Amino acid sequence: MVTEEHTLWLAALLHDIGKFAQRASDQGRGASHAEFGRRFVEEMFAGYFAPCGDYLAHAVAHHHTGSPQRDIEKLVMLADCLSASEREEEERHQEAPSWAPMVSMFSRPPLAPEGTTELRFALGPLNWADELTFFPRKDVQVGPPDYAVLWEHFVAEFRTLAGERGYHPHDLTTILALLRKYTSRMPSATPWGKGETRTVPDVSLYDHLKSTAAIAACLYRELGPDSYDVLLKALRAASPGQEDLQLEVCALLKGDISGTQDFLYLMSSSGASRGLRGRSFYLQLLTETVAGWVLERLGLPLTNLLFAGGGHFYLLLPFRQTQELFPQLDKEVTEKLWRAHQGDLCLLMDYVPVALCDFLEAEQGGHAFSEKWSEVSERVNAAKQRKWGQPGTTWMSEVLFRPRQLGTTEEEVCQVCHGQWEPSVDMLVNGVRKCRRCESFEELGRKLRQPSAMLLLSMPERELPDRPTWDEVLAAFGRCPQVVAAAGELVPPQGAATSGVFYRFDSTEFLQSKTDAERLFGDLPMAYDFRLLADATPAVRDAQGSLKVAEFADLAQASEGVKWLGVLRMDVDDLGSVFRSGLAEHASLSRLCTLSETLRLFFEGWVPTLFRSYNPVASGSNGEKAHDAVYLIYAGGDDLFAVGAWSVLPEVAAQVRDDFRRLVGGDHITLSAGIAVEHQKFPLYQLAEAAKEALDGLAKRYSRKLNGRAVKKDAIGFMGKAMGWEELTRAAEWKDTVVQMLRGDGKKAVPRALVTRLAEIAHLYEANARLQRARQRAGEISEEQLNEEVMYAKWMWQLVYHLGRFRARQEEHKEELTELQQAIIRQQDSLIPLLAVLARWTELLTREE
Ligand SMILES: [Zn+2]
Repeated sequence: MVTEEHTLWLAALLHDIGKFAQRASDQGRGASHAEFGRRFVEEMFAGYFAPCGDYLAHAVAHHHTGSPQRDIEKLVMLADCLSASEREEEERHQEAPSWAPMVSMFSRPPLAPEGTTELRFALGPLNWADELTFFPRKDVQVGPPDYAVLWEHFVAEFRTLAGERGYHPHDLTTILALLRKYTSRMPSATPWGKGETRTVPDVSLYDHLKSTAAIAACLYRELGPDSYDVLLKALRAASPGQEDLQLEVCALLKGDISGTQDFLYLMSSSGASRGLRGRSFYLQLLTETVAGWVLERLGLPLTNLLFAGGGHFYLLLPFRQTQELFPQLDKEVTEKLWRAHQGDLCLLMDYVPVALCDFLEAEQGGHAFSEKWSEVSERVNAAKQRKWGQPGTTWMSEVLFRPRQLGTTEEEVCQVCHGQWEPSVDMLVNGVRKCRRCESFEELGRKLRQPSAMLLLSMPERELPDRPTWDEVLAAFGRCPQVVAAAGELVPPQGAATSGVFYRFDSTEFLQSKTDAERLFGDLPMAYDFRLLADATPAVRDAQGSLKVAEFADLAQASEGVKWLGVLRMDVDDLGSVFRSGLAEHASLSRLCTLSETLRLFFEGWVPTLFRSYNPVASGSNGEKAHDAVYLIYAGGDDLFAVGAWSVLPEVAAQVRDDFRRLVGGDHITLSAGIAVEHQKFPLYQLAEAAKEALDGLAKRYSRKLNGRAVKKDAIGFMGKAMGWEELTRAAEWKDTVVQMLRGDGKKAVPRALVTRLAEIAHLYEANARLQRARQRAGEISEEQLNEEVMYAKWMWQLVYHLGRFRARQEEHKEELTELQQAIIRQQDSLIPLLAVLARWTELLTREE
């Protein structure tokens, strides 16, 4: 028999499954969605759900009745109320549930300005090969036939899961994955009501189901059965200041890995490309593993992991239990990570209490959930500040004051991470000393070139050895990972595995591997899930013609002009305020989840697809001479990091920006980028730093007037200068023209001296502009004079003179040169501020090495 608690989790997760069935049915109007849900669990899958007794069917059938009888029904009702209270209402057209496509939150107020065209998602399963999965559009139609097809597929996959056996609590993970696949683009509530205002269908059914389950799991632990009725009554009559609703029932816990910069980039170049990708993937796995470990310690389901990505995670936990266990959990995590990374990486955690009313809207006497989101982030940031301030525990002072094990002579140092290296334990690979840890990251990087699946087995926690490999660190948290190219490569577990999760990479057809896994693992409880690899790995052919991961030097070869390397970093502008004030008082738990999930799918799913199109070798579409150009090391949450041939990065960045505009439906939420380019021998760490500076120091500080509107950020830092995206486009167009002139392309080539002249003029302009700005700051000239002085100085006459001379000798390019000259001296939108970039860009593109 499945316990009452496990049945509750399942009931909460499936409570609205009837909505899906109802919208797919011809007789949709004949029965309530609760009744459709009951039929699903009690009739369609009667055998499978039999171990849950009739509790499950009761909770699903009665979650909308006026007088619930059983505790489990009341708990599902309570959780549903708290999760669904976010329903945003406005005056809108009535749409029957099966005819209402899900609205993109990004395209409507308060995130978008009034008057923005509302965009909607097509109904369908998540499918990474389909643009419709990622981008909402203006004219989207949905109807009962679409629901019917989708429902049929869902039921078929559910049958694959159920097989001939009964429900096992471990199946919850698989069911969650199925719901994610099928209900992420399906609205939970629809504008069907009779009143003047109707619900905006902008929260997905998936996020509603998942957050209901997460809340229910907390309530079960926190509340006694005698309080259910009181609270239900209080929630139904929710009004400001109700004392019953001040009860703190949940904790929002955040974990955040710090030290990732040094961990990722502070490596020497031997095998750096593979090692870097291995390290980046490990960081992701580590984040998820620790989150899963905390849940396991508290005995909670995966539904309570609200978000994991970008080096941090959020968990919704029962408040009192968290209060009690947190110090111990925190200590254990710190200790394990200290032993594994000696302080190079640590994971900081903290939590804030969440009261019942925090799930409710302000008018119901609640606070928007986003306040909790930022409150816990502030606490974690504060914890970062005092990280090593108070080494309270003995073990910590012991390790802190024990001299770090560094090699004493050159022969005892790992040539990749500069940590300790011992001939008996570590390796010598092609004459390069690599510690076992560094070697393991490279090995992982190799496996990640084209992996198809990953298995995570749950095992008893293991002790950490010195310089543990990446999988030994995970084993310390009770996880044993295997990354494989094909399911057939998996090896049966050694030791006492208690359960496993089988992940399919980059395809949502994840249940297909079930037969393979069952053959290998027999009766071991196994869950199935899917995940995005979120990278683009470039390849080269070796002497034998087989593919291997490209080194950074190979990427540089794909550059036009000088064979240099570039680093691109991008992230969403002011994301914090998008989350905090962007949703204003409507920032409920499930709305926040839908929002971050949409962003995350763009970065983890769409962005890698875009990058892969620059890698003809890896994607097998190449001719003889093609080179792969980009290595997307990381994309997730709201940002990305890539290394690549310097010359393609501006184009990729602009493409990401354009697609992001498509995602949000305008310019109200923007993206900025920073690119640094250098000779490939330049240390990656410095290149990464320079790209960060280009992003944070240039692009994020840039402000300008665009069509009479003041615009901040929404820019790119490139070639040492901040530009708006529209300016980058203009510079890029001129770059093409100038490069064409320099190459001749069938005509007589213009001498490279042209570039030198442009650079000189740009230099004069910049120097003069700096001087005049200083004068203006000192009050010597006015704002208008500043413009005058910057635009009409000596450089102008030089320019006219030099370009005039060029033109006289370049009969065949007269037209382009005249246009260039006019673009520079034009008063409106002059090219002059972009001239330094143009000169440098064309110089590097045409320089021979
Ligand atoms: Zn090392």
